[in-house]
Amino acid sequence: METANPLAYLEQQLAEVREKGLFHYPRVLSGEQRARCVYDGREVVNLSSNNYLGLTDHPELKAAAVQAVERYGAGSGAVRPIAGTMEIHVELEMRLARFKRTEAALVFQSGFTANAGTVSCILGRGDVIVSDELNHASIIDGARLSRAEIKIFPHKDVAAARKLLAEAREEVQGRGGHILLITDGVFSMDGDIAPLPDLVAAAREYGAIMMVDDAHASGVLGDHGRGTVDHFGLHGQVHIQVGTLSKALGGLGGYVAGSRTLIDYLILRARPFLFSTSHPPAVTAVALKALELLEEDDTLVKRLWNNTRYFRDGLARLGYDVSTSQTPIIPVIVGEEKGAVQLSELLFEEGVFAQSVVYPTVPRGKARVRNIVTAGHTRADLDQALDAYARVGTKLGLIRP
Ligand code: PMP
Repeated sequence: METANPLAYLEQQLAEVREKGLFHYPRVLSGEQRARCVYDGREVVNLSSNNYLGLTDHPELKAAAVQAVERYGAGSGAVRPIAGTMEIHVELEMRLARFKRTEAALVFQSGFTANAGTVSCILGRGDVIVSDELNHASIIDGARLSRAEIKIFPHKDVAAARKLLAEAREEVQGRGGHILLITDGVFSMDGDIAPLPDLVAAAREYGAIMMVDDAHASGVLGDHGRGTVDHFGLHGQVHIQVGTLSKALGGLGGYVAGSRTLIDYLILRARPFLFSTSHPPAVTAVALKALELLEEDDTLVKRLWNNTRYFRDGLARLGYDVSTSQTPIIPVIVGEEKGAVQLSELLFEEGVFAQSVVYPTVPRGKARVRNIVTAGHTRADLDQALDAYARVGTKLGLIRP
């Protein structure tokens, strides 16, 4: 007897999204990831990647990958704790610890697994996680997996975080539980920076572990891109720093930087480290080379920030609401979902790729087009994008001519 397709309910849910015109297959890139490249067959100024320093096509990174393949092979062949820890993995971790000015560091397959794997294993039932409402999905998943209680504070609201920390302290006292205060360093949808000094002070007062996810600050904020902790001069005061190798550093991977004790515990318990195969040597070689370039020279970081200021000022001058952006992530807030999708599509037709972001990635009524500026953009690229924003925004009635 033929039974009904048990996956039919998925089609119903998809149909609802399609009806609203909100279902899209990802645009497809031909050739390399660059500031100006070809998506879906059209040459565009690319304002959608996280390639902050423009390193994805850097000749030295590519050469490092090729050499690593020749020297160490294509794959690592095992998970780290069994037989998949190669010399090059250890070398990268030592370099990362030095770069971040911490005792030790541990590399994960991605920033996502670094966050989720860390939060889920250092906390458990009876513990409390106090988390900013706009923290990344990998933090949320890690928190859920940990089975700790999760308390969410309104975005960047330190007074609210303090109240939750006080509640948490009451709750964990007596049962010997732990408290984690966690924030993104730079928020991925708004491009604003966490109030880290105040959060660090609050964590200290309430005896909480302080953790920061620096995915969008790695290679972007701080001296030579060392991150939010360095930006605020808080070395030694944040217990856990997560960074990514997948964005500004041009390759793939995530890492945790902190004390030797923390790293040894992660080696013992972090599930993505224990149960998922380690990076191929080429991935590690790319990260090592990117780190070397970043340590030697901060020209790209400076160029990134020059471009950021130029583009943000340009959009604001046109009359766009660039929200609370303080970094190369510059959203243009449209509000209503269809408007954001339309703006993004018309921009694309004009040769500018800036992705629309809608609910549930951002709250309802806060749909936007998100721009990410990189060091790879020339002034001509940015001017072309601003001209397109002027034309399309006027056409859609988002700005006045
Ligand atoms: N944290 C934040 C805030 C992010 O935006 C991302 C990437 N979208 C990650 C973590 C995950 O990093 P990765 O891409 O290296 O997995």
